Amino acid sequence: MKALVALELNRLSVEEVDLASPRAGEVRVRMKAAGVCHSDLSVANGTVPMPLPMVLGHEGAGVVTEVGPGVTNVKVGDHVVLSFVPNCGECWFCAHKEPHLCVHCDAAGRMWDGTSRLQLRGQELGAMSQLGCLAQFAVVPAANVIAIDRSIPFASAALVGCAVMTGVGAVANTAGVEPASTVAIFGCGGVGLAAIQGARLVGAKQIIAIDLADNKLEYARRFGATDCVNASEDPVAAVKALTGGLGVDHSFEMTGRPAVMEQAYAAARRGGSVCIVGVGRYTEAMQLNALLLAGEAKRILGCFYGNSNFRVDMPNLLALYQAKRLDLEGLITRTYGIEEAPRAFADLEAGRNARGLILFD
Ligand SMILES: [Zn+2]
Ligand SMILES: [Zn+2]
Repeated sequence: MKALVALELNRLSVEEVDLASPRAGEVRVRMKAAGVCHSDLSVANGTVPMPLPMVLGHEGAGVVTEVGPGVTNVKVGDHVVLSFVPNCGECWFCAHKEPHLCVHCDAAGRMWDGTSRLQLRGQELGAMSQLGCLAQFAVVPAANVIAIDRSIPFASAALVGCAVMTGVGAVANTAGVEPASTVAIFGCGGVGLAAIQGARLVGAKQIIAIDLADNKLEYARRFGATDCVNASEDPVAAVKALTGGLGVDHSFEMTGRPAVMEQAYAAARRGGSVCIVGVGRYTEAMQLNALLLAGEAKRILGCFYGNSNFRVDMPNLLALYQAKRLDLEGLITRTYGIEEAPRAFADLEAGRNARGLILFD
């Protein structure tokens, strides 16, 4: 089958790879749609260090074509969305209602038994987040999939796997944004635009979108931003000016850049929350003022996968989509075939798309 492989740092290639059958507790999914996410790029360029070579992709939807022994949650023919974190139901975190931190999540790409189902010319490959779904097929743990309504288009469903779950979850779960509150979103890619929709859904009265790219700010307005700030001007001063000098109740950092994290911190009001969603470089750090940290009483919240329980939150998000309260199609700027995947990454890096999506036959 064809798969997008990060062969080594900054070297992406569509390769013909071998995929073994699912073992116990695993399923094979014929991919129909898979998103191109900034986290894939971060693995490809070393921002997030991972053992390479690796098949990229962690946001996708498809059809189950084979199940291994012991799989009971899905069957052949089911339409499914992949979650890049499993919900094993048994580890400490799953048992304590924090399944987004399930210990079986292995971003380095081996299955639960430590082996891989993927090979390239005899060499074992990792699968990003145990999914590796930028490929025609993926063998994944059954604990990472959920069956969905067959009427939902795969392209829309795929986005719920990462961007939408993360963005809406950051707003609704991690920060717990209340009705009539004020919100600032730093970074309006797929996750940021989903967060803007989440803020609109929970009834925020003011949603300030911040980005360097005017095309992204246009998307932001379409999805519910009440104010747009080009970050080339001082975004903290702009947010303060838009909130009567106070700062926002909740700020969200979606870029992974320490300087932007510090801006998001500064843009929150005293006692407000600062939610860090963007994934930064391992070697970088955000600076906090040792005096103001206590004195301003802001809450800094790390956010992984929107603090979501995908078994509950994915069906809820898809129900909102079916009720036309959540726009998923609108997030898709452009689609590509798998052969065009490297082009999709170039477009992502250039900031051309809200979301680029690979579609499979
Ligand atoms: Zn992602
Ligand atoms: Zn678990």
